[in-house]
Amino acid sequence: MKRILSIALLTATLSAGAQTQRYETHFVRPLGQVLTEIQHRFGIRLHYNIDTVGKQLAYADFRIRPYSVEESLTNVLAPFDYKFVKQPGNLYKLKAYEYPRRTDADGKKLLAYLDGLYAGKQAFTARADSLRQQVRQLLGINPVLAQCVKDAKPILSKVRKHDGYTVQNFALETLPGLYTCGSIYTPTMKGKHALIICPNGHFGGGRYREDQQQRMGTLARMGAVCVDYDLFGWGESALQVGEAAHRSSAAHIIQAMDGLLILNYMLSARKDIDTTRIGVNGGSGGGTQTVLLSVLDPRYTAAAPVVSLSSHFDGGCPCESGMPIQLAGSGTCNAELAACFAPRPQLIVSDGGDWTSTVPTLEFPYLQRVYGFFGATDAVSNVHLPKEKHDFGPNKRNAVYDFFARVFRLDRKMLDESRVTIEPETSLLSFGNKGELMPKNAIRSFAQVAPFIDPKAYQQLKSDASLEAKAKEWVASLNLADAKKAGFATTAIYNHLRAVRDWHNSHPYTTIPAGINLQTGKPLSQLERQMIADSAMPRTVHEKLMKELRRVLTEEQVEQILDKYTVGKVAFTLKGYQSIVPNMTEKETEYVLSQLKLAREQAIDYKSMKQISAIFEIYKTNCEQYFNNHGRNWRQMFSDYVKKRNAEKKKAKEAKK
Ligand code: ZN
Repeated sequence: MKRILSIALLTATLSAGAQTQRYETHFVRPLGQVLTEIQHRFGIRLHYNIDTVGKQLAYADFRIRPYSVEESLTNVLAPFDYKFVKQPGNLYKLKAYEYPRRTDADGKKLLAYLDGLYAGKQAFTARADSLRQQVRQLLGINPVLAQCVKDAKPILSKVRKHDGYTVQNFALETLPGLYTCGSIYTPTMKGKHALIICPNGHFGGGRYREDQQQRMGTLARMGAVCVDYDLFGWGESALQVGEAAHRSSAAHIIQAMDGLLILNYMLSARKDIDTTRIGVNGGSGGGTQTVLLSVLDPRYTAAAPVVSLSSHFDGGCPCESGMPIQLAGSGTCNAELAACFAPRPQLIVSDGGDWTSTVPTLEFPYLQRVYGFFGATDAVSNVHLPKEKHDFGPNKRNAVYDFFARVFRLDRKMLDESRVTIEPETSLLSFGNKGELMPKNAIRSFAQVAPFIDPKAYQQLKSDASLEAKAKEWVASLNLADAKKAGFATTAIYNHLRAVRDWHNSHPYTTIPAGINLQTGKPLSQLERQMIADSAMPRTVHEKLMKELRRVLTEEQVEQILDKYTVGKVAFTLKGYQSIVPNMTEKETEYVLSQLKLAREQAIDYKSMKQISAIFEIYKTNCEQYFNNHGRNWRQMFSDYVKKRNAEKKKAKEAKK
């Protein structure tokens, strides 16, 4: 026995020996190289701007499955937390791990696990109580609410009268100097009304869009006071904190805070609200907010999340998943958060064209089971529209009207969208067309909001805010007449500046070995190493900026923006050459200018002024060689110029004496 074992060991050692070198290096290959090879091997195309620089894949070739491109991709990408999404044809998009988005199969497993946590009402109630508490804590809402303005009186517009309802705009101060703006749609009929708070989603046009006004107006005509309000960083909120603020996790907290404070205000100031009929309803991101508000606020008596509810997608915007509320109870999902609303009436609207396509088979049966613990299976309903896509179209609105008519005893005879007046966006504004009515104490930047939220996160927010301010200032200098184009350009620049900063910060010079400079033979300087690291940023970041700028700006305006990035170095350097080179010809000027423009476009992808100057140095060297190759002597011209300057300085000094 012993002998057989030692022979086996010997054989193993021998065969491993043949591969010693590779075994010792764990068969490592660069990720980028492996991805290129997968494309050739399987005849597919990969689109990605994930970071492959310096990424080494251990056991690289062993991860390839000759019979399956998708298994191969999964194995190759998993060590780096990347994933692929199949596109039409032979195209695959590679993406970084997205924590809010999982697969349908994951949703099924999570719901099965959650089902196992509670067999009845008592266990579920205990779970729901602890979820409510933990969601508050993980959202970080309590410390923010503690800093809110107490009993704020909103700025109210004139009341506009329409057929069966009125509309009034409001601006409610939440945190000191921060306002949430929205509109209140009130039934004309007398008596106590139901109230429906309507958080908004990300549909184009925000809360000013036609289908939003149709829904608000129709529900008001039917007998419910409806209140909608801007997303943080959208609509009039953008005047205060900028649009980029919406892409911060602050949006998650502030929008929830807005919903809570608006309900406080409505219940304290309005005498026409029936507190036994308080609903919450929104679509997409507004549906995510609907579920969140129903968890945070016990006063709601009916809820209707539309095209949002899922066990495998938490909502991809920071206003939905910016704070880690899904970690509550050791892991939850929006379906379980919605279940916490049991046994109160709830409508889930879903469709076949988005992530809610699984509602009839996964989330709804799960909700019915939980509602069943309370003997209230019928209180939860699902309207599923298998042929429809992700929107708030007529069938979805009708489902909402029907639900609230049923649970809030609204007047079905008044259901007629054609009687609703669609007001222009300007009528729905509280601060005037250009924000001229904004109160004096109003906050004017995101940086002023950040200290209320999380002092630890403040540095990042402050840096974001300063980049956004830069982007805004640069675009403002163009004096564009079209505000939408200006907003688009600002966002493009802001995203680019952030990408450059983030790449720079996550790739310090120490990631590049000192090596040698091939010209001097000396080790590379810190600046050189940093520039190598920064130059590896995916080209797509640059290309996206240029494409987006060219979509809304003229070529001349694009150049003006590039000059802002490089603090006018093109004009400044050209002027320098013109004073050094005697009688610079048109041809020479043209060459110098073309080189400086190349420098400018390359330099915008670098973070510091030192780096930008270093890029310009490369092209200045080209210019100087050009002079030398075309009958000039750069060294001579430069030294003549310096002598001339010194002589002038001396003269000026003597004149002063
Ligand atoms: Zn959002």
